[in-house]
Amino acid sequence: MQLPHVTSFIGGLSIARGDDPMPVIGPAAGEPVAMLHQADAGEVGLAVASARDAWQNWRNVSVAARQTMLRRLADMIEANLDILAELETRTMGLPIRQTRMMADRAAGIYRFFAEFAGQHPEEMYRQERGYTTLVAREPVGVVGLISPWNAPLLLSSMKIAGALAFGNTCVLKPSEQTPLSLQRLMELITASDIPPGVVNMVNGTGPVTGKALIEHAGIDVISFTGGTATGRTVMAAAAQRLRPVATELGGKSANIVFADADFERALDGTLFAAFANNGEACLAGSRILIQRSIADRFLAAFIDRTKAIRVGDPMNPATEMGPVISAAHKARILAYLDQAQHSGCKVLTGGGDAGQAKGFYLDPIAVLAPSNRLPVCQDEIFGPFVTVTLFDTEDEAFAIANDSPFGLASYLWTGNLGTAMRGMRAIRAGTTWVNTPLLRDLRAGFGGFGDSGVGRESGRGSLQMFTQEKATIIGD
Ligand code: NAD
Repeated sequence: MQLPHVTSFIGGLSIARGDDPMPVIGPAAGEPVAMLHQADAGEVGLAVASARDAWQNWRNVSVAARQTMLRRLADMIEANLDILAELETRTMGLPIRQTRMMADRAAGIYRFFAEFAGQHPEEMYRQERGYTTLVAREPVGVVGLISPWNAPLLLSSMKIAGALAFGNTCVLKPSEQTPLSLQRLMELITASDIPPGVVNMVNGTGPVTGKALIEHAGIDVISFTGGTATGRTVMAAAAQRLRPVATELGGKSANIVFADADFERALDGTLFAAFANNGEACLAGSRILIQRSIADRFLAAFIDRTKAIRVGDPMNPATEMGPVISAAHKARILAYLDQAQHSGCKVLTGGGDAGQAKGFYLDPIAVLAPSNRLPVCQDEIFGPFVTVTLFDTEDEAFAIANDSPFGLASYLWTGNLGTAMRGMRAIRAGTTWVNTPLLRDLRAGFGGFGDSGVGRESGRGSLQMFTQEKATIIGD
């Protein structure tokens, strides 16, 4: 079978200058599913120039017209949910039911930003001493967007929709591991009313294509989602050119179950927070803390439910967990399991290959950790791997939650409003969920404390990132 070729999209055209494409490996069989043409610095330059040209007109397109275009793109995504989901499953390994939901949510993101773009009137202050101040928010210009492999369509759409809604043009560099759904998105954008050059895409590895993008003088703002180490590189490059940058990075979120929680609700929610998206989620509740008085009962139920997760072919609609993204990632996760065993953790379940001869499958892993200070509790493992730690008091739980370099999210399962309120105040995390997992309200900014990054995305966060304030003071 002829493999699809992944190219750059520049000014509405598919462009592949590199003649030595690299394979994109599908995690279900461990075999190539596409060939990717890597964009070099010259090609990145063409994309930035195309975005700059397009911005001269796009910045003056009315908000109402931009809203109509974003809504139409949402319609087109909804009409293509099946193919977008299939392409994403093929490269990422996330079960098809979940990638379909992701594609649907991506469409919702374009609708959200279409609405949100119209809700921000400019400000005016009248001063008694005879002058008036106008504060306008203007688009920043050409924005560089870099996204990771673990939810390509959704995370890239959050950036593209926010950038366009506020009058910017963009160059997207998606992950080289999962480019297919975004290639389809570019085809949809080309067929939409959005003018050529407003959205451009370059493909390739981080050290080649990503580096060329973040170092390009024509980029006015960088919005990056990915790992913490890469985030540091991106911020350093942005600092050289004094460009604003927002970084949405890793997490190791505490998932705290109090004895007074609704047991079944906490069990369902904890499992979902831990293992949704194959456990490959920045906001995964991968550090489970259980109050000691219910630990035996909760753990027994949690282990049973974890063992019952249907791991297998991600194209099968009945599958609940697919393979992890790559052989290297699987090896890294298993190295953490080995390390856990050698540092006094008890393996509660998992670590096998789900009975699959090919592909990068893993039975979801849970280990009981004697201390939150161990590397398995401190490092982001980013897969179907949770640690369980026990606690006695509320204060102890909040202290363990905060004993982390990350601060992206936290989960509280409790029947006590006071505990929830105290947790909300005590825990250093950008988002806390109480008795519900992973719901997103796009009006609220999303981002992290500490090593989870700088800045906020969605809603006001994107408004601030993708616009600049301009004050004009007029005398009477
Ligand atoms: P990664 O940092 O390896 O790569 C992310 C993107 O950066 C990719 O497109 C990659 O090609 C690019 N890149 C790599 N090196 C680069 C460089 N030197 N210059 C410019 N670009 C470069 O991350 P990943 O493995 O793709 O994704 C997993 C990570 O992303 C996890 O740490 C996860 O927590 C994080 N993440 C965070 C959020 C959030 O909202 N906070 C959401 C999803 C994923």
